[in-house]
Amino acid sequence: MSFSSVLPYFCRGKVVHGFGRGSKELGIPTANLAKEVVDHIPKDIPTGIYHGWASVDGGEVHKMVMSLGWNPFYKDKTKSMEPHLLHHFKEDFYGSTLSVCIVGYIRPEMSFNSVDELIAAIHSDMEVAKRELDKPENRMYRDDNFFHEKTPSSL
Ligand code: ADP
Ligand code: MG
Repeated sequence: MSFSSVLPYFCRGKVVHGFGRGSKELGIPTANLAKEVVDHIPKDIPTGIYHGWASVDGGEVHKMVMSLGWNPFYKDKTKSMEPHLLHHFKEDFYGSTLSVCIVGYIRPEMSFNSVDELIAAIHSDMEVAKRELDKPENRMYRDDNFFHEKTPSSL
């Protein structure tokens, strides 16, 4: 697809509170990125589900699956960017700086008839992400210098 020419896309920002849709209760917490980060996403990166890499406060780089889309709660006025990191964190990391590398597109956004269908779709996205990110051409971004840059304290 044409937009793949803008990937990988690197960005960094604060983890903010989302809209309490209960992702954590589903076992799939998503770290919502600050509005400034979402506003900077090039318009030619369409909404949908992506895979890539992410690190919290310059720590270990983890695989992630990310939703980029419009929040119905805000009547399609607010676009959100919500990575779920494929790692077990002992504690929440709201307010931390999240560094993200969006590597590849998985599928468009879609609505589901039930929560079970939604969970099944996300689990399948996670499997795709794991597999794709093991490919050398995608794995190399894990070691990108971007993840080792000192981040400005203003972030
Ligand atoms: P919110 O609606 O506030 O985003 P979530 O239920 O989506 O609430 O939970 C998100 C929070 O969970 C993140 O901001 C982060 O602090 C925490 N968290 C814990 N583990 C993870 C993980 N593996 N991936 C993403 N966020 C995680
Ligand atoms: Mg969330």
